[in-house]
Amino acid sequence: MIAFNCPPHVGTEEHYIAEAIANRKICGDGVFTKKCSEWIEKQTGASKVLLTTSCTHATEMAALLSDIGPGDEVIMPSYTFVSTADAFVLRGAKAVFVDIRPDTMNIDENLIEDAVTERTKAIVPVHYAGVACEMDTIMDIAKRHGLLVIEDAAQGMMSTYKGRALGAIGDYGCYSFHETKNYSMGEGGALLLREAKDIERAEIIREKGTNRSKFFRGQIDKYTWVDAGSSYLPSELNAAYLWAQLEAAGLIYEDRLRSWNTYYEMLSPLAEEGKVELPVVPEECKHNGHMFYIKVRNLEERTRMLAYLKEHGVVAVFHYIPLHTAPAGLAYGRFCGEDKYTTKESERLLRLPMYYGLQQEEIAYVCEKVKEFYR
Ligand SMILES: *Cc1c(COP(=O)(O)O)cnc(C)c1O
Repeated sequence: MIAFNCPPHVGTEEHYIAEAIANRKICGDGVFTKKCSEWIEKQTGASKVLLTTSCTHATEMAALLSDIGPGDEVIMPSYTFVSTADAFVLRGAKAVFVDIRPDTMNIDENLIEDAVTERTKAIVPVHYAGVACEMDTIMDIAKRHGLLVIEDAAQGMMSTYKGRALGAIGDYGCYSFHETKNYSMGEGGALLLREAKDIERAEIIREKGTNRSKFFRGQIDKYTWVDAGSSYLPSELNAAYLWAQLEAAGLIYEDRLRSWNTYYEMLSPLAEEGKVELPVVPEECKHNGHMFYIKVRNLEERTRMLAYLKEHGVVAVFHYIPLHTAPAGLAYGRFCGEDKYTTKESERLLRLPMYYGLQQEEIAYVCEKVKEFYR
């Protein structure tokens, strides 16, 4: 059987976890957390990177830093993971959903402005499959309307837009290191801060509302409760796993891109025959091979294809159920404009196995089965 996902493992994780244990420091913010944050800062150019317990929590921190509260509105796609909306809904805000572009499955930047009201506080672009949203347009709209931009870059580490790292373009960026993502620590994430002015408050929010980080740096002689916050820092055991992955980041990146390119080449004939559609990566975007999806004719064909692949030992899966159609989406959000593509395109999309270490022969087998389905 060919699994859909396999958690990334490069072989040095055990060594670093043992080191964390030997250091007698397994709670958060030890040497591994520091190494990981500094590595991501260097890689992305963010002013500061704070490791978190998940991307969901990084987004919650961004919502707190943005002072988003009851009555505020946040613009985002409906075609996304629940966390994108949850982080703001938890603060009492309303999710305002905008349709996606059918080519990249990202929020349609040309529809955002129509959704802006005097209550709008932020725009949350989601870089689906590690392919960037049209960030220049989004940043320009935000600037003209005085809005914050919080990037859900859960799938976007090592991807760029016009040479800039995803997650470091907006005011805040959120990464995920869940086991289904390119680089993992089991459960975990990171918050990227573009502006140095946000560092102090972000550290306080992450440390239960205390100025403990300052205390550990010797900048104050005792720490105290100074703001509302929570516990968003991951354990050193998780950070040690992530460090192994970051050290091998190039290896993982190359491996995934090779798999992605193989899929693309092998399935191109089917696309030329008009049987399936392949992912579109705009010129200005460099992606990270996070996901390989195809789009088939409709929901009925997708259901049959998923069953056919399963029968032949291939685990393929569909993806998001649009949030505006879910019970919580109806309660906490509203769709602005027409749902021209969100529902239709989401029903046609099917993700093929993709993970670090996936073999070329396995990809060939999967592609053969997809082609066989159409014979
Ligand atoms: C995975 C994912 C998340 C959530 O990440 P966690 O680290 O599991 O909280 C949020 N948004 C998107 C787009 C994701 O793919």
